[in-house]
Amino acid sequence: MTEERLATGIASVDRLLGGGLETESVTEVYGEGGSGKTLFCLEVGTRVAREGRWVFYVDTEGVSVDRLRAIAGDGLEKILKRFLLSTPKSLEEQGRAVATACALTREGKRPVGLIVIDSATFYYRLSLSGSDEDDARQALSLALADLVVTALDAHVPVIITNQVWRSLQSGTLEPLGGSFLNHVAKTILRFDRLPGPRRRAVLLKHRSLPEGSAEFRITNSGLEGPLPP
Ligand code: ATP
Ligand code: MG
Repeated sequence: MTEERLATGIASVDRLLGGGLETESVTEVYGEGGSGKTLFCLEVGTRVAREGRWVFYVDTEGVSVDRLRAIAGDGLEKILKRFLLSTPKSLEEQGRAVATACALTREGKRPVGLIVIDSATFYYRLSLSGSDEDDARQALSLALADLVVTALDAHVPVIITNQVWRSLQSGTLEPLGGSFLNHVAKTILRFDRLPGPRRRAVLLKHRSLPEGSAEFRITNSGLEGPLPP
């Protein structure tokens, strides 16, 4: 088991994670709309790109260049060059994008520092009500398995974001994707909305750290730790 970490740059979250994201496993971030999942991915991706490493970014929601510009600041051009962005329009296309990202990462010709799938379950969710539910489940599982192996082989952290549904039984917000997704992710973070720009990251699962939580906030230039009391 590795102790390597990729710092997110958000001090409170890095403390919660014992220094940052594990570099050989998949981290799942789930939470309701507006909880900061995409901004988190952009924040970490920008950090990796700024260091000259490549970021495979599979985007199902349409990343806003404005938001990336706000986070990246003056270095936007250089950072965009390091972002290998794909925008699949179906679960099938998403599967191909993930397979390509994984294959090129493992090939090692370019120094890849991060793989992001935001969101991993958008197209999966759309398929759930149709007759192809089993196929969707299998497609998602194959992509996730590929990401697990790639993270391990290439020592590259993977962030997948996940949407939520409200359980009628408990009233709580639960992640999509079922138990397989929860096994695949060795770190699971839930982002909660707090008043205004404040957000809370709750660490629900980690291989070597206890559960806990940390506050952060959304600013004009990205994500930061909370203001001092
Ligand atoms: P979704 O599930 O819909 O994709 P998400 O979890 O990815 O949502 P983000 O897109 O990362 O959420 O974050 C959007 C949130 O950030 C919104 O609630 C928005 O109000 C907030 N936000 C964006 N810019 C700022 C800012 N400059 N200051 C405060 N809050 C901001
Ligand atoms: Mg988002």
